[in-house]
Amino acid sequence: MSTKALHDKVLRLMKEHHDWFNKSIPLIASENIPSPAVREAIISDFGNRYAEGWPGDRVYAGCTYIDQVEIICNDLAKKVFRAEFADCRATSGVVANLAIYAAFSNPGDYMMAASIPSGGHISHGKKEHSGTAGLVHGLNIEHYPFSKEEMTIDVDATKRKIEEMIRNGKVPKIGMFGGSLFLFPHPVKELSNFMHDHGMYVNYDGAHVAGLIAGGEFQDPLKEGADSMTMSSHKTLWGPQGGIIVSFEKRADAIKKAIFPGNTSSHHLHHVAGKAIALAESLEFGKDYAKQVIKNAKELAGALVEYGFRVLGEKRGYTASHQIAVDVSKFGDGGSVEKNLEKANIILNRQLLPGDIKAGRHYMHPSGVRIGVPETTRLGMKEGEMKEIANFIKRVVVNMQDPNIVAKDVADFRKQFQKVQYTFDNTLGAYEYINLVGTNQIYNEQ
Ligand SMILES: *Cc1c(COP(=O)(O)O)cnc(C)c1O
Repeated sequence: MSTKALHDKVLRLMKEHHDWFNKSIPLIASENIPSPAVREAIISDFGNRYAEGWPGDRVYAGCTYIDQVEIICNDLAKKVFRAEFADCRATSGVVANLAIYAAFSNPGDYMMAASIPSGGHISHGKKEHSGTAGLVHGLNIEHYPFSKEEMTIDVDATKRKIEEMIRNGKVPKIGMFGGSLFLFPHPVKELSNFMHDHGMYVNYDGAHVAGLIAGGEFQDPLKEGADSMTMSSHKTLWGPQGGIIVSFEKRADAIKKAIFPGNTSSHHLHHVAGKAIALAESLEFGKDYAKQVIKNAKELAGALVEYGFRVLGEKRGYTASHQIAVDVSKFGDGGSVEKNLEKANIILNRQLLPGDIKAGRHYMHPSGVRIGVPETTRLGMKEGEMKEIANFIKRVVVNMQDPNIVAKDVADFRKQFQKVQYTFDNTLGAYEYINLVGTNQIYNEQ
């Protein structure tokens, strides 16, 4: 293929991706769809500039407008998360976590975090799993005892474990809360005093649930005793991909240095602008959205249970967040279910569930799938649509219908949900491709 043909092919593939998502049901728990205003920010010239440092104290010239936007962004983040201090420069959730490790621990220190099957994220992980905390910052990781019944961290067992670690000379330095499989709040209130009394720093990783926290519909980590909260700006929040840290004034200096120069040089200024817009949307529409997200997740869980699926967290009503975890082992495994659903244009991901590693399962073939409703809710779907989605899933997984037939019905169903809701302006379609290159020929060629 010629160079120009490859160039054109990339454009065409992106367009095809848009067309595909426009007729699919997006159920990845860590994904969302930004508003047209956020998409406008992403393609602005901000993305071509450098602004190392803090607004008003930059290493580069040319930041007149960029500084104003970044100040608005930080102010909005403080307001949305009811925080004294905010830094919106982290280029991702992982970078935000790295900045916290760098600011408040040294290589060789111990950190408490959830294991991956218990919902922990690879950025909290051990060196032997190539986890960021271990591999990049040299932290030793000890896992929280986890209750499968309650689907959260076991408070008493954690206290005992920390005391035992201290007796053995493994004094933990950081208590990390939050995770990626995250159905119910973590016991920040119950453990942060205890951790502080033992000299630990407490961070809450709200990557997944930041939009729910913004809406006041999940826990409030900074009020419950966390010293800082890291997050992604694009999961239940509506930003472009990126990270945010919120904390207290007394932590500001250490965090700012850890972000720059510690962990960023360019900090993706177009995404800072996008985060500012997303945070403004969140102040205006975030509460209604967060409530609907949680209602939708519970509805979807209930509907799947009626179709014979085993949904985790039964004892506590399946979920208090934007996601549910489903054990699909009686229908194959998470990997095969994920693949079949994708053929029906239902997009979700396989998931290691608590106990999977002990049972010898691999992340390619775990026992579960994770289903999230942040994106479908942003498209305006409510409880009735969740029932329909459960039915589509059942047709593929339980009835083993031809996914191509289901895909046609899925596309039909999606026709009524073409716009982003909970936003100031949605003239542009949710997945409408923004074609900046003149010739339509590129896109029409096969
Ligand atoms: C997604 C996620 C991250 C990583 O965020 P990125 O923005 O993708 O770097 C960190 N922590 C948790 C708990 C996550 O789920």
